[in-house]
Amino acid sequence: MLTVNAYAAVSATEPLAPVTIERRDLGPRDVLIEIKYAGICHSDIHHARGDWGPQTYPVAPGHEIAGIVTAVGSEVTKYQVDDRAGVGCMVNSCRECASCRKGEEQYCLRGMIPTYGAIDVDGTLTQGGYSTHVVVNEDFVLRIPEGIGLDVAAPLLCAGITTYSPLRRFGAGPGTKLAVVGLGGLGHMAVKHAHAMGAEVTVLSQSLKKREDGLRLGADHYYATSDAATFEELAGTFDLIVNTVSAKLDIDAYLSLLAVGGTLANVGAPAEPLPLNAFSLLMGGKNFAGSLIGGIRETQEMLDFCAEHGYGSDVEIVPAEKINDAWERVLASDVRYRFVIGTATLA
Ligand code: NAP
Ligand code: ZN
Ligand code: ZN
Repeated sequence: MLTVNAYAAVSATEPLAPVTIERRDLGPRDVLIEIKYAGICHSDIHHARGDWGPQTYPVAPGHEIAGIVTAVGSEVTKYQVDDRAGVGCMVNSCRECASCRKGEEQYCLRGMIPTYGAIDVDGTLTQGGYSTHVVVNEDFVLRIPEGIGLDVAAPLLCAGITTYSPLRRFGAGPGTKLAVVGLGGLGHMAVKHAHAMGAEVTVLSQSLKKREDGLRLGADHYYATSDAATFEELAGTFDLIVNTVSAKLDIDAYLSLLAVGGTLANVGAPAEPLPLNAFSLLMGGKNFAGSLIGGIRETQEMLDFCAEHGYGSDVEIVPAEKINDAWERVLASDVRYRFVIGTATLA
């Protein structure tokens, strides 16, 4: 057992606090990773604050992990010491069900094991990346290509794949009129990916405050959703809308922006149910879809795509002691565009 420093939620209401957590001894197919950077995902906050239901504490959040392999188990074949490695939102799945066999471990029919806050195969509570080290089965470790810094790679492990996967599934590419709702961690990655795939990208943000950034990130157009004229002007426009908003949204209003047969792919995971009028879908034969992160194979494909196109996330690096301040800024939509914890100060 390895005892390591971490920052953990100790209840749904208190600030995160420094704690120590245990990492299991290396099994034959396990990899030990020294964590260099861990991204702060809005899901960390939803989870810790009980937005999605009661949780077990203490729990160290963090599922955007980038670091260096420092030891490998006796049967590990995919990784060796000194490799650049990442871990995303899951650390295991059954490997046998139809979803796992398709490489969609996130939809494992027996339930994948999330990186934190879940009961692991050994009966312990999984603990995430707001810590110095993690032990993960090699099948759930990603290779971070040379050419992407570990700091800007970390957010790709959740924000990156969560937006890449629906863009691929719904065929974003040249000729696609695409909108991204919310320019936060997920939203800014959606803009970068969609631009790299050749789509015509529109950002729909609450205000025009981040317009210059949005255009620099690759958007062709930028509108404020607080302006009612936006919904009139853009009615019936988009083939695909990716909703990344962390709060309840007027879904009907966004469905009205879709062209006939268009799809609203929802990745936001607010605490409250999203209301939807059936007629918003019926009129125009529109689709409302959900998407959860992405499988391991597709996550590797996304990392390689980013390396090939020369981009990672736009990050603001914060020392571990500032996590609580960073969380408050995420809650205030004041993030440009992902906070990443430098875990060195935890050691
Ligand atoms: P984030 O960085 O906080 O970005 C969310 C953005 O939504 C904000 O920057 C803001 O953009 C917009 N927004 C926030 N509150 C809003 C409100 N009340 N009305 C309208 N717009 C609002 O969060 P994130 O890390 O990108 O995560 C976004 C959501 O996706 C969270 O619910 C998270 O749990 C979920 N998520 C889902 C998956 C999945 O697998 N499906 C994976 C990761 C995260 P503007 O300032 O531009 O308006
Ligand atoms: Zn996440
Ligand atoms: Zn499975």
